[in-house]
Amino acid sequence: MKSAFHTGVKEITIRETPVPTPGPGEYLVRIKACAICGSDTWWASPASDTEPVHGHESAGVIEACGPGATRYKVGDRVVCYAIRGCGSCENCRNGIPTRCASSQFVEGGFQEYSLFTADLLFPCPEGIDFVTASLLSDAIGVPLRGLRRLPPAPTDSVTVWGLGPLGLLQVLFLRARGVKQIIGLDTVEARRKKALELGADFVLDPAGCDVVAEVAKLCGGDGADKAYTFVRNAQATETAVRSTKKGAGICTFVGLEGNFNLPEWLERTMVWSFYFTPDEYSDNVRFLQEHRIDLRRVVSDVFPLDRIGEAFAKRFADREHSTKIVITMD
Ligand SMILES: [Zn+2]
Ligand SMILES: [Zn+2]
Repeated sequence: MKSAFHTGVKEITIRETPVPTPGPGEYLVRIKACAICGSDTWWASPASDTEPVHGHESAGVIEACGPGATRYKVGDRVVCYAIRGCGSCENCRNGIPTRCASSQFVEGGFQEYSLFTADLLFPCPEGIDFVTASLLSDAIGVPLRGLRRLPPAPTDSVTVWGLGPLGLLQVLFLRARGVKQIIGLDTVEARRKKALELGADFVLDPAGCDVVAEVAKLCGGDGADKAYTFVRNAQATETAVRSTKKGAGICTFVGLEGNFNLPEWLERTMVWSFYFTPDEYSDNVRFLQEHRIDLRRVVSDVFPLDRIGEAFAKRFADREHSTKIVITMD
Protein backbone atom coordinates (compact mmCIF):
# COMPACT_ATOMS: atom_id res chain seq x y z
CA MET A 1 0.00 0.00 0.00
CA LYS A 2 1.03 3.62 -0.34
CA SER A 3 1.94 5.62 2.77
CA ALA A 4 2.96 9.30 2.95
CA PHE A 5 6.03 9.92 5.12
CA HIS A 6 7.35 13.25 6.35
CA THR A 7 10.94 13.16 5.11
CA GLY A 8 12.20 16.72 5.52
CA VAL A 9 11.24 20.37 5.84
CA LYS A 10 8.15 20.79 3.60
CA GLU A 11 8.90 17.38 2.09
CA ILE A 12 6.57 14.38 2.00
CA THR A 13 7.51 11.11 0.25
CA ILE A 14 5.17 8.31 -0.78
CA ARG A 15 6.57 4.85 0.02
CA GLU A 16 5.30 1.31 -0.37
CA THR A 17 4.57 -0.31 3.00
CA PRO A 18 2.99 -3.66 3.93
CA VAL A 19 -0.77 -3.66 4.62
CA PRO A 20 -1.05 -4.23 8.39
CA THR A 21 -2.94 -7.19 9.87
CA PRO A 22 -5.54 -6.37 12.52
CA GLY A 23 -4.75 -7.83 15.95
CA PRO A 24 -7.29 -8.66 18.67
CA GLY A 25 -10.01 -5.97 18.82
CA GLU A 26 -8.60 -4.09 15.83
CA TYR A 27 -10.10 -3.14 12.49
CA LEU A 28 -8.24 -2.62 9.25
CA VAL A 29 -9.74 0.51 7.69
CA ARG A 30 -9.30 1.26 4.02
CA ILE A 31 -8.86 5.03 4.26
CA LYS A 32 -10.89 6.86 1.61
CA ALA A 33 -10.22 10.46 2.63
CA CYS A 34 -8.15 12.31 5.23
CA ALA A 35 -8.28 16.08 5.72
CA ILE A 36 -5.28 18.30 6.44
CA CYS A 37 -5.58 19.95 9.88
CA GLY A 38 -4.31 23.37 10.92
CA SER A 39 -2.36 21.44 13.57
CA ASP A 40 -0.40 19.48 10.92
CA THR A 41 2.44 21.95 11.38
CA TRP A 42 5.05 19.14 11.35
CA TRP A 43 5.13 19.74 7.60
CA ALA A 44 7.34 22.82 7.98
CA SER A 45 9.71 21.24 10.56
CA PRO A 46 12.67 18.92 10.08
CA ALA A 47 11.63 15.26 9.92
CA SER A 48 12.56 12.68 12.54
CA ASP A 49 13.06 8.94 12.05
CA THR A 50 10.48 8.04 14.68
CA GLU A 51 7.65 10.04 13.10
CA PRO A 52 4.52 8.05 12.28
CA VAL A 53 2.53 8.44 9.08
CA HIS A 54 0.51 11.56 9.91
CA GLY A 55 -3.15 12.37 9.28
CA HIS A 56 -5.79 12.30 11.99
CA GLU A 57 -8.99 13.40 10.19
CA SER A 58 -9.92 10.31 8.22
CA ALA A 59 -12.89 8.27 7.07
CA GLY A 60 -13.06 4.97 5.23
CA VAL A 61 -14.41 1.44 4.97
CA ILE A 62 -13.78 -1.60 7.19
CA GLU A 63 -11.61 -3.95 5.17
CA ALA A 64 -10.93 -6.65 7.80
CA CYS A 65 -11.77 -7.36 11.45
CA GLY A 66 -9.29 -8.77 13.96
CA PRO A 67 -10.15 -11.51 16.48
CA GLY A 68 -12.99 -10.38 18.77
CA ALA A 69 -13.62 -7.17 16.81
CA THR A 70 -17.38 -7.47 16.39
CA ARG A 71 -18.87 -3.97 16.58
CA TYR A 72 -18.31 -3.31 12.86
CA LYS A 73 -18.30 -5.67 9.90
CA VAL A 74 -16.41 -5.71 6.61
CA GLY A 75 -17.85 -3.06 4.29
CA ASP A 76 -19.11 -0.72 7.03
CA ARG A 77 -18.36 2.96 6.43
CA VAL A 78 -16.63 4.63 9.37
CA VAL A 79 -15.33 7.98 10.60
CA CYS A 80 -12.16 7.94 12.73
CA TYR A 81 -11.73 9.74 16.07
CA ALA A 82 -8.44 11.55 16.54
CA ILE A 83 -7.64 11.33 20.27
CA ARG A 84 -6.79 8.26 22.31
CA GLY A 85 -6.84 8.59 26.11
CA CYS A 86 -5.40 6.17 28.67
CA GLY A 87 -8.87 4.72 29.20
CA SER A 88 -8.63 4.57 32.98
CA CYS A 89 -8.16 8.08 34.45
CA GLU A 90 -11.11 10.11 35.74
CA ASN A 91 -11.38 12.14 32.51
CA CYS A 92 -11.36 9.03 30.33
CA ARG A 93 -13.92 7.31 32.58
CA ASN A 94 -16.11 10.42 32.26
CA GLY A 95 -15.96 10.21 28.48
CA ILE A 96 -13.61 13.17 27.96
CA PRO A 97 -10.38 11.59 26.64
CA THR A 98 -9.37 15.04 25.34
CA ARG A 99 -8.61 16.00 28.96
CA CYS A 100 -6.55 12.86 29.67
CA ALA A 101 -3.02 13.73 30.81
CA SER A 102 -1.59 11.05 28.52
CA SER A 103 -3.83 11.58 25.50
CA GLN A 104 -2.29 11.15 22.05
CA PHE A 105 -3.27 12.04 18.52
CA VAL A 106 -4.33 8.97 16.54
CA GLU A 107 -2.41 9.35 13.30
CA GLY A 108 -2.03 7.20 10.19
CA GLY A 109 -4.62 8.75 7.88
CA PHE A 110 -2.32 9.72 5.02
CA GLN A 111 -2.04 6.18 3.66
CA GLU A 112 -4.27 3.57 2.09
CA TYR A 113 -4.91 1.38 5.15
CA SER A 114 -4.69 1.92 8.91
CA LEU A 115 -5.62 0.05 12.10
CA PHE A 116 -8.16 1.32 14.64
CA THR A 117 -9.92 -0.06 17.72
CA ALA A 118 -13.72 0.26 18.02
CA ASP A 119 -13.53 3.15 20.51
CA LEU A 120 -11.83 5.23 17.80
CA LEU A 121 -14.49 4.62 15.13
CA PHE A 122 -17.94 6.08 14.54
CA PRO A 123 -20.52 4.95 12.00
CA CYS A 124 -20.44 7.16 8.90
CA PRO A 125 -23.91 8.52 8.06
CA GLU A 126 -25.61 7.17 4.92
CA GLY A 127 -25.54 9.23 1.79
CA ILE A 128 -22.51 11.41 2.42
CA ASP A 129 -19.31 11.28 0.44
CA PHE A 130 -15.97 10.51 2.10
CA VAL A 131 -14.55 14.00 1.63
CA THR A 132 -17.44 15.32 3.73
CA ALA A 133 -17.08 12.38 6.14
CA SER A 134 -13.43 13.29 6.81
CA LEU A 135 -14.65 16.63 8.20
CA LEU A 136 -16.84 14.78 10.74
CA SER A 137 -13.63 13.34 12.21
CA ASP A 138 -12.33 16.61 13.57
CA ALA A 139 -13.19 19.88 11.81
CA ILE A 140 -16.88 20.17 12.63
CA GLY A 141 -16.52 18.90 16.18
CA VAL A 142 -14.36 21.85 17.22
CA PRO A 143 -16.75 24.76 16.48
CA LEU A 144 -19.78 22.69 17.51
CA ARG A 145 -18.19 22.04 20.91
CA GLY A 146 -17.55 25.78 21.04
CA LEU A 147 -21.31 26.31 20.80
CA ARG A 148 -21.76 23.95 23.77
CA ARG A 149 -18.97 25.51 25.84
CA LEU A 150 -20.26 29.04 25.15
CA PRO A 151 -23.88 28.84 23.95
CA PRO A 152 -24.92 31.92 21.96
CA ALA A 153 -28.34 33.52 22.50
CA PRO A 154 -30.56 34.45 19.54
CA THR A 155 -30.19 38.12 20.52
CA ASP A 156 -26.35 38.01 20.55
CA SER A 157 -23.98 39.93 18.34
CA VAL A 158 -20.93 37.68 18.00
CA THR A 159 -17.42 37.97 16.60
CA VAL A 160 -15.38 35.17 15.03
CA TRP A 161 -11.62 35.79 15.01
CA GLY A 162 -9.54 33.96 12.41
CA LEU A 163 -11.44 32.78 9.32
CA GLY A 164 -9.45 29.68 8.45
CA PRO A 165 -11.41 26.45 8.01
CA LEU A 166 -12.50 26.29 11.67
CA GLY A 167 -13.48 29.97 11.89
CA LEU A 168 -15.47 29.61 8.65
CA LEU A 169 -17.26 26.58 10.05
CA GLN A 170 -17.96 28.58 13.23
CA VAL A 171 -19.63 31.26 11.08
CA LEU A 172 -21.67 28.62 9.24
CA PHE A 173 -22.81 26.97 12.48
CA LEU A 174 -23.58 30.26 14.27
CA ARG A 175 -25.75 31.24 11.30
CA ALA A 176 -27.54 27.88 11.44
CA ARG A 177 -27.97 28.07 15.19
CA GLY A 178 -29.41 31.60 14.94
CA VAL A 179 -27.80 34.74 16.37
CA LYS A 180 -28.62 38.38 15.76
CA GLN A 181 -25.38 39.34 14.07
CA ILE A 182 -22.07 37.70 13.09
CA ILE A 183 -18.89 39.72 12.52
CA GLY A 184 -15.93 37.84 11.03
CA LEU A 185 -12.35 39.08 11.36
CA ASP A 186 -9.27 38.08 9.39
CA THR A 187 -6.40 39.84 7.67
CA VAL A 188 -6.80 37.71 4.49
CA GLU A 189 -9.31 39.22 2.08
CA ALA A 190 -10.34 35.94 0.41
CA ARG A 191 -11.23 34.49 3.79
CA ARG A 192 -13.33 37.53 4.70
CA LYS A 193 -15.19 37.14 1.41
CA LYS A 194 -15.80 33.46 2.11
CA ALA A 195 -17.17 34.30 5.57
CA LEU A 196 -19.72 36.65 3.98
CA GLU A 197 -20.77 33.83 1.63
CA LEU A 198 -21.23 31.49 4.58
CA GLY A 199 -23.40 33.82 6.61
CA ALA A 200 -21.36 36.56 8.30
CA ASP A 201 -23.21 39.89 8.35
CA PHE A 202 -20.04 41.97 8.43
CA VAL A 203 -16.33 41.31 8.04
CA LEU A 204 -13.40 43.41 9.21
CA ASP A 205 -9.67 43.42 8.56
CA PRO A 206 -8.19 43.83 12.06
CA ALA A 207 -5.00 45.25 10.54
CA GLY A 208 -6.87 47.85 8.54
CA CYS A 209 -9.07 49.62 11.08
CA ASP A 210 -9.58 50.53 14.74
CA VAL A 211 -11.17 47.17 15.26
CA VAL A 212 -12.41 47.71 18.82
CA ALA A 213 -14.24 50.87 17.76
CA GLU A 214 -15.60 49.26 14.58
CA VAL A 215 -16.97 46.22 16.41
CA ALA A 216 -18.52 48.47 19.06
CA LYS A 217 -20.20 50.54 16.36
CA LEU A 218 -21.61 47.46 14.62
CA CYS A 219 -22.88 46.13 17.94
CA GLY A 220 -24.71 49.29 18.97
CA GLY A 221 -21.98 50.91 21.04
CA ASP A 222 -20.81 48.45 23.70
CA GLY A 223 -19.12 45.62 21.86
CA ALA A 224 -19.93 41.98 21.12
CA ASP A 225 -21.90 39.69 23.42
CA LYS A 226 -19.74 36.69 22.52
CA ALA A 227 -16.41 36.17 20.82
CA TYR A 228 -15.16 32.87 19.32
CA THR A 229 -11.46 33.10 18.67
CA PHE A 230 -9.12 30.89 16.65
CA VAL A 231 -6.17 33.27 16.86
CA ARG A 232 -3.22 32.51 19.06
CA ASN A 233 -1.17 35.65 19.48
CA ALA A 234 -1.45 37.88 22.52
CA GLN A 235 -2.31 41.08 20.71
CA ALA A 236 -5.16 39.53 18.75
CA THR A 237 -6.53 37.93 21.90
CA GLU A 238 -6.40 41.23 23.74
CA THR A 239 -8.25 42.91 20.89
CA ALA A 240 -10.84 40.14 20.82
CA VAL A 241 -11.48 40.63 24.54
CA ARG A 242 -11.52 44.43 24.34
CA SER A 243 -14.10 44.35 21.58
CA THR A 244 -16.60 42.51 23.78
CA LYS A 245 -19.04 44.21 26.13
CA LYS A 246 -19.04 43.93 29.93
CA GLY A 247 -20.30 40.54 31.02
CA ALA A 248 -19.49 39.01 27.61
CA GLY A 249 -18.23 35.48 26.96
CA ILE A 250 -15.09 34.59 25.04
CA CYS A 251 -14.42 31.08 23.74
CA THR A 252 -10.88 30.27 22.62
CA PHE A 253 -9.90 27.10 20.78
CA VAL A 254 -6.13 27.53 20.83
CA GLY A 255 -3.38 28.14 23.31
CA LEU A 256 -2.80 31.77 24.21
CA GLU A 257 0.72 32.96 23.59
CA GLY A 258 2.48 35.98 25.04
CA ASN A 259 1.68 38.47 27.76
CA PHE A 260 -1.75 39.96 28.03
CA ASN A 261 -2.62 43.40 29.13
CA LEU A 262 -6.20 43.05 30.31
CA PRO A 263 -6.54 45.50 33.19
CA GLU A 264 -10.30 45.30 33.45
CA TRP A 265 -12.27 42.12 32.81
CA LEU A 266 -15.59 43.46 34.14
CA GLU A 267 -17.23 40.07 34.59
CA ARG A 268 -16.26 38.69 31.24
CA THR A 269 -15.94 34.91 31.10
CA MET A 270 -13.31 33.11 29.07
CA VAL A 271 -13.72 29.43 28.26
CA TRP A 272 -11.36 27.09 26.47
CA SER A 273 -12.68 24.47 24.09
CA PHE A 274 -10.74 21.54 22.66
CA TYR A 275 -11.81 19.08 19.94
CA PHE A 276 -14.98 17.15 20.89
CA THR A 277 -15.91 14.14 22.98
CA PRO A 278 -16.97 10.79 21.45
CA ASP A 279 -20.46 11.19 22.95
CA GLU A 280 -20.97 14.38 20.94
CA TYR A 281 -20.47 12.72 17.55
CA SER A 282 -24.10 11.74 16.95
CA ASP A 283 -25.34 15.20 18.02
CA ASN A 284 -22.85 16.77 15.60
CA VAL A 285 -24.19 14.65 12.74
CA ARG A 286 -27.78 15.50 13.74
CA PHE A 287 -26.97 19.24 13.75
CA LEU A 288 -25.64 19.02 10.19
CA GLN A 289 -28.63 17.04 8.99
CA GLU A 290 -31.23 19.21 10.74
CA HIS A 291 -29.75 22.37 9.28
CA ARG A 292 -28.94 20.76 5.90
CA ILE A 293 -25.37 22.02 6.09
CA ASP A 294 -23.15 21.30 3.10
CA LEU A 295 -19.61 20.97 4.49
CA ARG A 296 -18.14 20.97 0.98
CA ARG A 297 -18.62 24.75 1.09
CA VAL A 298 -15.49 25.05 3.25
CA VAL A 299 -13.41 22.59 1.17
CA SER A 300 -11.25 24.48 -1.33
CA ASP A 301 -9.38 21.48 -2.77
CA VAL A 302 -9.30 17.70 -2.97
CA PHE A 303 -5.93 16.15 -3.86
CA PRO A 304 -5.06 12.48 -4.48
CA LEU A 305 -2.48 10.93 -2.11
CA ASP A 306 0.20 11.10 -4.82
CA ARG A 307 -0.04 14.92 -4.74
CA ILE A 308 -0.05 15.34 -0.96
CA GLY A 309 3.08 17.53 -1.04
CA GLU A 310 1.32 20.01 -3.31
CA ALA A 311 -1.74 19.92 -1.06
CA PHE A 312 0.33 20.83 2.02
CA ALA A 313 2.10 23.65 0.19
CA LYS A 314 -1.25 25.10 -0.81
CA ARG A 315 -2.75 24.71 2.69
CA PHE A 316 0.09 26.35 4.59
CA ALA A 317 1.73 28.65 2.04
CA ASP A 318 -1.26 29.98 0.09
CA ARG A 319 -3.83 31.26 2.58
CA GLU A 320 -5.47 33.42 -0.09
CA HIS A 321 -6.60 30.39 -2.06
CA SER A 322 -7.05 27.58 0.44
CA THR A 323 -9.54 26.65 3.12
CA LYS A 324 -10.02 23.01 4.08
CA ILE A 325 -8.01 20.60 1.93
CA VAL A 326 -8.75 16.88 1.81
CA ILE A 327 -6.55 14.04 0.54
CA THR A 328 -8.31 11.10 -1.14
CA MET A 329 -6.91 7.61 -1.60
CA ASP A 330 -8.44 6.43 -4.89
ZN1 LIG B 1 -7.23 18.05 13.31
ZN1 LIG C 1 -7.03 9.01 30.63
